[in-house]
Amino acid sequence: MLLKLLGFIVVVFLIYIFFFKNKRKDEIEKSKNDSKKLEGDTMVECKQCATFVSHNEAIIKDGCFFCSKECAGVPR
Ligand SMILES: [Zn+2]
Repeated sequence: MLLKLLGFIVVVFLIYIFFFKNKRKDEIEKSKNDSKKLEGDTMVECKQCATFVSHNEAIIKDGCFFCSKECAGVPR
């Protein structure tokens, strides 16, 4: 009887560990994707002409985003 109970606890424990591990893996993958998204595909609005450009292409001047050097007021 005690052995059966022990076996049952072990099985439940293993199932719990299995699901817990999978959940953690998913969360790690999710957070990875989120940070990737933030670095790459985030759209920012040009302060001058209100055009949306990707974070990578945006020009940052005085803490504001601009779509081009012309909008940022950078002399050519
Ligand atoms: Zn612009």
